[in-house]
Amino acid sequence: MVDVRSVHKSYGSLDVLKGVDLTVRAGEVTVVLGPSGSGKSTLLRTINHLEKVDGGSVSVAGALVGYRRSGNKLHELREREILKQRTDIGFVFQNFHLFPHLTVLANITEAPVSALRRPKKEAEAAARALLDRVGLADKADAYPRQLSGGQQQRVAIARALALEPKLLLFDEPTSALDPELVGEVLDVIRDLARRGTTMIIVTHEIGFAREVADTVVFMDGGRIVEQGPPGQVLDHPRHERTASFLSKVL
Ligand code: ADP
Ligand code: MG
Repeated sequence: MVDVRSVHKSYGSLDVLKGVDLTVRAGEVTVVLGPSGSGKSTLLRTINHLEKVDGGSVSVAGALVGYRRSGNKLHELREREILKQRTDIGFVFQNFHLFPHLTVLANITEAPVSALRRPKKEAEAAARALLDRVGLADKADAYPRQLSGGQQQRVAIARALALEPKLLLFDEPTSALDPELVGEVLDVIRDLARRGTTMIIVTHEIGFAREVADTVVFMDGGRIVEQGPPGQVLDHPRHERTASFLSKVL
C-alpha cells in the first residue's frame, strides 16, 4: 500500500530525512516512534504530498505520489491532480484542524461533496453513519468549539474516513488531549485497526503501539534506526538509541 524509497528531504541546509525506506502492506498498522525533531511529521507529510521530496520516491496504492506516468516519462501533477490523489489518503492532525465555522456534519461532508462531487444527501447519510461509528451521533449540528478535544478528534477521524481513503495517517492524534480524553480516541483507532484499515500512526502511546501495531518503526535524526514487530522493537530493541528513547517515554 505504501512504498517509501530512499526519501530525502531538506529545509535549506537542514537535512530532515536522510534516506528513509518504509513499506506498509494493505491492512497493516505501522506505528512510528521517535524523539521530537527526528522527522516523523515530515515523513507523514511526504507520503501525503504536503511536502515534496528532494530525492527518492513515495508510492501509495501503486501510484507514484505527485507524478503521473505517460509512456516511460514522469510528469509532475498539477495542484488539482494532487488534491485528487490526496483523497486516497486520510490525515488526522494533532490539533484536529476542523473548520471552526462549519457544523460537525458540514465538516465531514465538505470534502466528499467538493472534491469527490458526491450528492449532498448521500454524503450526509454517510457522515451520520460515520458519526455513529465514532460515538457522536448526537453532535451532527454542533460546532467544533462546543466539543471537547476528544470529541473534536473523533470528528476529525470521521471526516478523514468520509473520503473512504486507502490509507490513514495519524500525526500524534492524542498529544493535544487531556489525559482522560485519550482513551476515547484510541478506542476509535483500535476499532479501525480491527477492521483492517491501513494506517501509519505517529504516537508516544507505547502501550497502544504494542497492542495495535503490526510494525513499530523507530526514527532518530532523519533515519529509521530500526523496525520490526512490537515485541521485538519495544521489548528487545537492537539499538542503544531505541532503548534510551523507550526508557524515557515508558
Ligand atoms: P518530528 O515530527 O519527529 O518532531 P519534524 O518532521 O516535525 O519532526 O521535524 C524534523 C526537523 O525538521 C526539525 O528539526 C524541524 O525543526 C524541521 N522542520 C520541520 N518542518 C520544517 C519547515 N517547514 N521548515 C524548516 N524546518 C522544518
Ligand atoms: Mg511531529
